[in-house]
Amino acid sequence: METFRYCPSCGSKEITFDGMKKFHCRTCSFIYFHNTAAAAGVILEYGEQIVLIRRNREPAKGKLDLPGGFVDPDESAEEALRREVREELSIDLGALKYLGSYPNTYEYEGVTYKTCDLLFSSRIDTLPTVVDKTEIEELVLLHPSIVPDEHIAFESVRMGLRLFKKRMKLSCIFILALLGNLVYTLPSS
Ligand SMILES: [Zn+2]
Repeated sequence: METFRYCPSCGSKEITFDGMKKFHCRTCSFIYFHNTAAAAGVILEYGEQIVLIRRNREPAKGKLDLPGGFVDPDESAEEALRREVREELSIDLGALKYLGSYPNTYEYEGVTYKTCDLLFSSRIDTLPTVVDKTEIEELVLLHPSIVPDEHIAFESVRMGLRLFKKRMKLSCIFILALLGNLVYTLPSS
């Protein structure tokens, strides 16, 4: 956090950073907390596939990411997500299923933002046709089981996708178990 060299209150150079989130000015005792920012992302389910975006701007330009973005002041994570997806993909999301939240580090213009990313999943019936080219190079459709970890932009998205895959496998096993049960009970009925 070497970008912050002067106290924003008195202009002194005697400002220290605790390496985590607290700035302290030794001259005027001003304190500023660079708190964790909230962000929201969505795994768009289209049939058996999911829709990822290829980032068209730094950080992680060219890598795969989820649609979404930072939560604005006075906004809920769900509102932020619906707004971001409308801006990026020109679609309105239907029902959202909460997946989990994951810590992330986002470097932008020399500032390190620590974020807490709230991830959701949502089904879509038609693919977006209009995308915001300043943010998105292209849409990438993949089966969740073959999403390449090394091409994913952020650790939070990697972790979210891992849980999503695990849940998919579990629901498959559950359906197979149900079918097994059905087959098993049929002869005796
Ligand atoms: Zn000061």
